Amino acid sequence: MDPHAIEVRRLRKTYPGGIEAVKGIDFEVASGEVFGLLGPNGAGKSTTIGMLTTTISPTSGTARLAGFDVAKHPLAARRISSVVFQEPVVDRSLTGRRNLEIHARLWAVEESEAKARIAEIADTLGLSELVDRPVGTFSGGERRRLEIARALVSQPRVLFLDEPTVGLDPRIRAELLDVIAGLRARNDMTVLVTTHYLDEAERLCDRLAIIHSGRIVALDTPTALRADLGREIVELRVNGDARSVLESLRKRGIAGDDAFTVGSTLTVPLHEHTSGEAIAVVSELGVASAISTRQPTLDDVYLRLTGDRLAEAA
Ligand code: ADP
Repeated sequence: MDPHAIEVRRLRKTYPGGIEAVKGIDFEVASGEVFGLLGPNGAGKSTTIGMLTTTISPTSGTARLAGFDVAKHPLAARRISSVVFQEPVVDRSLTGRRNLEIHARLWAVEESEAKARIAEIADTLGLSELVDRPVGTFSGGERRRLEIARALVSQPRVLFLDEPTVGLDPRIRAELLDVIAGLRARNDMTVLVTTHYLDEAERLCDRLAIIHSGRIVALDTPTALRADLGREIVELRVNGDARSVLESLRKRGIAGDDAFTVGSTLTVPLHEHTSGEAIAVVSELGVASAISTRQPTLDDVYLRLTGDRLAEAA
């Protein structure tokens, strides 16, 4: 049987000084899958990516890329993978094509093969028109696309994208997402992406893991993660202490263990109750200044599990 594209078993990283950044995580990613790693700052995402890309040595446990143990066979693991870092690595003074050619040579891709690959990748990433311009003249979004093109030149079986859309304006972000979504069509490549943007994770990822304080706290398809919160949510803007209102609603049987507060906002997944019942109880208690109902989103899943506000995580 083919090994998983990525297989992580009881992986741990304790930095000198005793900081336990990753506390024993397990997951596997199938070939061709797009897998998301989400979590607030300090959750352990970069450390995990660092171990998978062989720049950080695990304290214990194993991680394999296409069967190659990253600690025992780092060169083999690197040979079948590529990383797109947050920091640019392309040379601004050279043209896009020259950057790609140099990278191809680094990977010992034969010249005519490199030419064909670069043409195909430039076409896939919508770079054909600008690939002969110096990178210094590229917009931020175009440069990001070139960074991805660079990573694809070696035809990786596993591609790591570390927060690919951070800091981009909405249009450029949408364009880049479209390009990344296009990579899903390539069944031979597995993508692991880290992001703070939940809409992005929902759109791109077949499955995702939410990591918090060095542990995976949820792992499933975006749809299944949302389904855990039921079909409907009541959201209250609370007068006074949201936590004590939550306790009252728990005592009345309206709120379950998965209800949570962020500041003065209280979010209550309803499950077996109707919104009418919930609103009646809230009105009777006289504790809310605003009340609304909606369907659960991935943000709710994330906020419930990480206990952090997105603003802090971004
Ligand atoms: P994320 O990428 O999710 O923001 P990180 O993996 O960067 O999380 O960090 C996880 C934890 O490990 C944090 O507490 C961070 O301060 C700590 N950490 C990261 N890098 C180092 C390092 N080189 N030395 C010591 N502690 C580190």
